[in-house]
Amino acid sequence: MPYSEGKIIKVHPDDNVAIVVEAGGLAEGQGLGEGLIAKGNVPQGHKIALSDIQVDEPIVRYGEVIGNAVAAIAQGEHVDEARVRLPQAPLLGDLPLATRPAPAAEPLEGYTFEGFRNPDGSVGTRNVLGITTSVQCVAGIVEYVVQRIKRELLPQYPNVDDVVGLNHSYGCGVAINAPAAIVPIRTLKNISLNPNFGNEVMVIGLGCEKLQPSTLLDEQPVRIYSNTEAADPEANVLSLQDESFEGFGDMVDGILAMAKHHLERLNNRRRETCPASELAVGMQCGGSDAFSGVTANPAVGFATDLIVRAGGSVMFSEVTEVRDAIHLLTPRTINEEVGTALIEQMDWYDQYLAQGQADRSANPSPGNKRGGLSNVVEKALGSVIKSGNSPIVDVIGPGERLRRKGLTFAATPASDFICGTLQLAAGMNLQVFTTGRGTPYGLPMVPVLKVSTNSTLGKRWHDIIDLDAGRIATGDASIEDVGWELFHLILDVASGRKQAAADRLGIHNDLVLFNPAPVT
Ligand code: CA
Repeated sequence: MPYSEGKIIKVHPDDNVAIVVEAGGLAEGQGLGEGLIAKGNVPQGHKIALSDIQVDEPIVRYGEVIGNAVAAIAQGEHVDEARVRLPQAPLLGDLPLATRPAPAAEPLEGYTFEGFRNPDGSVGTRNVLGITTSVQCVAGIVEYVVQRIKRELLPQYPNVDDVVGLNHSYGCGVAINAPAAIVPIRTLKNISLNPNFGNEVMVIGLGCEKLQPSTLLDEQPVRIYSNTEAADPEANVLSLQDESFEGFGDMVDGILAMAKHHLERLNNRRRETCPASELAVGMQCGGSDAFSGVTANPAVGFATDLIVRAGGSVMFSEVTEVRDAIHLLTPRTINEEVGTALIEQMDWYDQYLAQGQADRSANPSPGNKRGGLSNVVEKALGSVIKSGNSPIVDVIGPGERLRRKGLTFAATPASDFICGTLQLAAGMNLQVFTTGRGTPYGLPMVPVLKVSTNSTLGKRWHDIIDLDAGRIATGDASIEDVGWELFHLILDVASGRKQAAADRLGIHNDLVLFNPAPVT
């Protein structure tokens, strides 16, 4: 190692900046080996110049240009965001497609988890009653009933883990026929089919909303629950405006009675040994810092490759954090068709941002910048490492379901809550979330494992973080070590043998839909 171990990290031989590892940052005059001396204080996670960089010369990290020098930078100086000019995004017209798909990796045999096998062939990691809603109008009553079910019914159905109201802001006051409305509609429909809900779909609607409950039922026939003497045990839709309900009490009793039929069937589900190929894992990052790309995300990328080698499904997402590294991804697609689909998702998002008169400088956040990330190029280069080295076998649009085993790019915004919601719709049965600044993110539908990028956060949030990848920066563990630890933790949590911190603490976020269509 050319520089003092444990003080700074240079990722790629071509880099002319390195990241400060030391918890307190670098002090002016501190020697770092190789004749490098800090000229001024440099905070932890921030960049120090390894050589003199002239004005307009490229600033290189990960072996890629993250920007150009606004003014001359001397060796040993702090390269803060104000000194880095954002370069143009890679043009989408002339990218290499399917030129470098990864060589077939050796299959990983013999790894299993204890999951819930569903009638449609998918496998769940939890056994949850999901109550789908067609419109925000019903959210208050659904939340009231969810609390009653937790108190009164769940004790009678010991094999059911939880009940969740799938509340959201969509359903009425929206341009339901606008082309882009397909995104929130299919998201809601596909979330109801998430493997952790055991193929038990029940929809609570109002009655007069634009999004009619029948639209949310896949190929199932609509079977209305009404407050009559012989209620249908297979009922899957209840509308609060149904004339058989007189007042609040009737509505609540109706939903409780309908839920009992679904709970009875869910209560018959049992965990069984399933191959690791039934994993469908969503990868995400949030509250990133400059360590994300050297610790947590490479370890996640290693685990991604392990899951893919075991025959499982992994998705990575977050278009705005992929856009500036797209030239590294299109060569990894398995054929030109998948490569073109990837470019189409980038192009769609470029236009979406342009319509809102936003550009890509809207990302990163102030916290990302305090963590040392200068711009979205540096953030993207660190973000796409979550995808490992596996070939990209498919691309799906926002709210679509996974179609293939292997590594899929699931197009979503980078917003943590929206990305999580869309990955639920894609059918993930577990999510891995890396964070540097810290977020208590969790979902009640699937386990979310949080991986810290630095040990300062890992120690401070010892009970909220599931795995600390900061040990990679301090030399206490390798990327491979943490990647394998994460893979085993995924199998344990998917089996119900261990709990994700967010589930143990009961910290869960809301569903947040992506609605690119107008509201009325
Ligand atoms: Ca995110």
